[in-house]
Amino acid sequence: MSYLFEGEDHQAIRATCRKFAQAHIAPHGADWEEAEELLVELYAAAAKAGVAGIGYPEAQGGQGGDLSHVLVACEELIISGRSVGTIVGLGTHGIALPPIVRFGTPEQQARFVTPCLRDGKISALGITEPGGGSDVAGLTTKAERDGDHYVITGAKTFITSGTRADFVTTAVRTGGPGHGGISLVVIEKGTPGFSVSKKLKKTGWWASDTAELHFDGCRVPVSNRIGPENSAFPMIMMNFVAERLALAGQCVAIAELAYRESINYARERKVFGKPLMGMQVTRHKLADMASQLAAARSLTGEVCVRALRGNDPAVAGLAAKAKNVATDMCSFVCDQAVQIHGGYGYMRETLVERLYRDARLYPIGGGTREIMNELIAKTEGY
Ligand SMILES: Cc1cc2nc3c(=O)[nH]c(=O)nc-3n(C[C@H](O)[C@H](O)[C@H](O)COP(=O)(O)OP(=O)(O)OC[C@H]3O[C@@H](n4cnc5c(N)ncnc54)[C@H](O)[C@@H]3O)c2cc1C
Repeated sequence: MSYLFEGEDHQAIRATCRKFAQAHIAPHGADWEEAEELLVELYAAAAKAGVAGIGYPEAQGGQGGDLSHVLVACEELIISGRSVGTIVGLGTHGIALPPIVRFGTPEQQARFVTPCLRDGKISALGITEPGGGSDVAGLTTKAERDGDHYVITGAKTFITSGTRADFVTTAVRTGGPGHGGISLVVIEKGTPGFSVSKKLKKTGWWASDTAELHFDGCRVPVSNRIGPENSAFPMIMMNFVAERLALAGQCVAIAELAYRESINYARERKVFGKPLMGMQVTRHKLADMASQLAAARSLTGEVCVRALRGNDPAVAGLAAKAKNVATDMCSFVCDQAVQIHGGYGYMRETLVERLYRDARLYPIGGGTREIMNELIAKTEGY
């Protein structure tokens, strides 16, 4: 299956990403997942192969393209690389760089964006705090102005690529309470007062690293602020729309992989003297998986196209719908995939066991299922 919007350019991206994933990820992905660590050189390899730059302006070191190309690239990397943790670790540029691409100065873009896309530097996005992630407008990490620096005090948690990142695009409170007092600043590794306080152990996405970050009087130049002071909330919300569609796309890719694995297994596995596929109940399970997968893919693709048309006030709500539909579908498909694999489906050596754990993140990350429903309710007008 592919997205309806795909053209020759998307096919070319699929070919590039397939080749990269088969050469650089698939041979090592399972080991990296078990080790909860990937080879950091992978970032430079992805930059060299042109994979890291897909969806970014050529003027900033990217390959050009838009969100539709990002969805397709990510899907091919997941299906061919067979390691979701690796892909989401590699993919944190997708949430950390867009505010700089859209609202940064040319100097900031040259300092932060281009080195990630061309040289394999690593970026992360720091929004969530130990005291709460859903209530972004309530964040408390404080940035106090001292001459041409901000002095930053607080903490961030659950930050993907947090231990590896060369810099973190960080949401801080520069003004009063609520959404009007938030700015985004880029905090670089090695800045005095900035430390990784903990690498976190988690249910899935093992090859990606997830960290708690600490800021203790950390001095960051004002020139590292993205856009005007206290103006970051709309930037963060805009970023969320693309992130939620990208997460929906990851769900589609994970489910596609789990579905394909299940078809193969059902053909090979013999039960009561005949292939598991010979049982009508198995074929119906697969048919339900295929149907839900097709529905989530259609919605995700349609909302992506609408988002790319621009100026559509319904897109934030639609992206939330696509994320919820895709996350539910992915949880269902991965659960059925484990069931079709029987006892092997529960074993760490089996890919669908890992996909089942990976799938659990999606109703939480990038805005929870409940927060998506809040957004949907608001855009539906009740
Ligand atoms: C593996 C992983 C990677 C992540 N990567 C990043 C990252 O790179 N950068 C980053 O900034 N964050 C990241 N996150 C954080 C993620 O975005 C948050 O976990 C998420 O937004 C939820 O915030 P929370 O965990 O604080 O939950 P809370 O906000 O405390 O919510 C707890 C529960 O309350 C519910 N709830 C909250 N408010 C409401 C409401 N108004 N109505 C109904 N129910 C509500 C939630 O839906 C949830 O079920 C990551 C998380 C994980 C697990």
